[in-house]
Amino acid sequence: MSAWFRFTRLMICLLIPAIACFTVFAQSIDIPNALRLKKLDNYSHIAATAIYHWNTPSEVSNENIIAMLTSAGLQNDTQSEGVIFRHLLATYTANDADSPRIPLFVKEPLLDKHWQELKTIKPELFAAAKAYYIYARAVNDFKGSDHRVNFSVPELRRLQREALETGSRRATAIASIWLAMELTLANPIQAINEIEYALPHLPRYSSDKSLENALSNVIAHDWLRGAYLELFVPSRAFFHSKEIIESKTQDNNTMVKTWAYFSAIDSLLIQNKFEEALAMSNDAIEHLSTVTSVHEKLLTYVQRLRVVVFQKSEGYELLAQEVMTQIRQLDTTEVKQRTEELSAYADALYAAVLNDDAKFQDSLQRYRNIVLATIPNSGFKEKIKLRLERELSRLYDASGDYEKAYEHSKTYNRLLVEKNTEQFKLSNSSFTDGIAKDIELARYRQKELTVLRSEKDGLSTDKEAMKTTIFALIITILIILALWLWISKRQSDLLAERDSLTGALTRRAMLNSLKKALKGNKASCIALLDVDNFKKINDKYGHVVGDEVLTTFTQIIKNRIRKSDKLCRYGGEEFLIYFSDSDQKSAKRILDELNFALSRQKHWSNTKEMFSVSFSSGLLDVNGETNLDTIIKMCDELLYRAKREGRARVASFPI
Ligand code: GH3
Ligand code: MG
Ligand code: MG
Repeated sequence: MSAWFRFTRLMICLLIPAIACFTVFAQSIDIPNALRLKKLDNYSHIAATAIYHWNTPSEVSNENIIAMLTSAGLQNDTQSEGVIFRHLLATYTANDADSPRIPLFVKEPLLDKHWQELKTIKPELFAAAKAYYIYARAVNDFKGSDHRVNFSVPELRRLQREALETGSRRATAIASIWLAMELTLANPIQAINEIEYALPHLPRYSSDKSLENALSNVIAHDWLRGAYLELFVPSRAFFHSKEIIESKTQDNNTMVKTWAYFSAIDSLLIQNKFEEALAMSNDAIEHLSTVTSVHEKLLTYVQRLRVVVFQKSEGYELLAQEVMTQIRQLDTTEVKQRTEELSAYADALYAAVLNDDAKFQDSLQRYRNIVLATIPNSGFKEKIKLRLERELSRLYDASGDYEKAYEHSKTYNRLLVEKNTEQFKLSNSSFTDGIAKDIELARYRQKELTVLRSEKDGLSTDKEAMKTTIFALIITILIILALWLWISKRQSDLLAERDSLTGALTRRAMLNSLKKALKGNKASCIALLDVDNFKKINDKYGHVVGDEVLTTFTQIIKNRIRKSDKLCRYGGEEFLIYFSDSDQKSAKRILDELNFALSRQKHWSNTKEMFSVSFSSGLLDVNGETNLDTIIKMCDELLYRAKREGRARVASFPI
């Protein structure tokens, strides 16, 4: 029993630390370390810097980029993110023939497993990086043509679904806004839908450049503003401009808000809400107190000039003059390229106010030429043409040349129809089939659910099997334990039945079995034996020899009697023999034979001395007597008689 307990205790002592170690180890596999997350942030920052700020005026130079790449160690990073970002940056500049390419070698192919790993570590960065990669590849493969959306939109939809599965709202919003960006080329209505969907979970605008926040909520509002203006819903355009104006950007970059004021005022002008436009313009001028950029200041004043001139309220000429004075005070020499269009526009508008036709024609032509010159290099040709026609119409309207104004307004409408027709042509492709998309999604979910359910079933079957195994184990252990107890009990019982020195039955075992035997009522005899002068043997040869005499004596008796007879050590050097199914005569013969056999036994292993022993016995024919006490008492008397008569003999009643 105690051995079993010791074993169990040992197992528990070994198992508990082993389980604890395993648990800690298993958990440690899943925890991406802080260093790795920091590295990912750095890569994200480098990618955003290279993509959005490299070589734009006054921003990051080639040397900056190279220094950033070197210190990040991206070229030699063997982890998944290393492969991803090498491919991403290489793809981004792959088609650049005239500008420098990123000095990186991709080294190994970009595989799905790399994306999957990034997805588990940082789902938001996964969504942003993969979206940009899809976009950059589409731009490369379709050489800048709008037809890229046939590739990019389905890919980005797949990414959106993948992001959704991670459970990250931000990752889903990031994938969605990239999808929306591509959709604006094909289907602005769907694009609006996707941006509105992403908007609540998009990252806030931040001056910390990262791939994740490259398309922030401010950009989303800005896009929605533009998209609603194109669809001629200025009320919504105004709403989104206002969202930007009221957003808390802890950033010294005032440009975003300057443009938001500009477009808010634009939306109000389209709705002919001049009073509100003027109020908003006052706010925009107030905002200028935080602005240092000459370009932004010019933009704000030109917009104010438009409000004043288009409203044509009483004494507007004076107000226009005031604004114009401020415009002329601005020193634009350093940012001439970016501001000349606005300056020309302001000159034309003010010439219209002054009714100076020559100046008006001159400034208008200048403005027109500057805008037309930007078209060949722009990615927004149609938009620029549209804006030009609308502004020309407004300028002529302001100068009182309503015929020309109408002409340009007509051209504007024609271009708008053409642009929308062309744009929505792309949306005929299968990716706009929402029902098919949703059915596919539902089917996919169903499949996942089935897999999940079967996994759960498998799990509960496993659990059942486990339970059965444990139960069987406990039963087996209990059976082994019971068996073991039974065997040890039986062994100790057997030991208790036998005399430890001679192996003969003990007195108790003998009396028990005699009770049963005597009830069988068969003719039988009982003899009580006592070794003669045994004390002297002990005294002369020692106890060890005495013991040997007792065991030899027992052995000789055992060899002679039958299996059905019984021998017991009654005590000390006294023995009891039960002769079953035997008469007194034959029993006496056996006892005499035993004494004869003993007399021939002279050699003992524990002494060199030679001697033999004898015994005396009282023999009794049981003769139907069942009272053991009586029988033994009579045997004892007979034995006493044998001793008295000279020992080494059998005493019995005469038959
Ligand atoms: P008698 O012929 O009258 O029986 O003389 P005896 O010496 O045999 O009788 P007694 O009763 O005086 O002595 C019995 C001795 O047996 C006493 C005791 O020390 C010895 N004895 C009893 N049990 C054992 C045993 O297990 N081993 C040994 N060596 N001696 C034992
Ligand atoms: Mg005795
Ligand atoms: Mg004796």
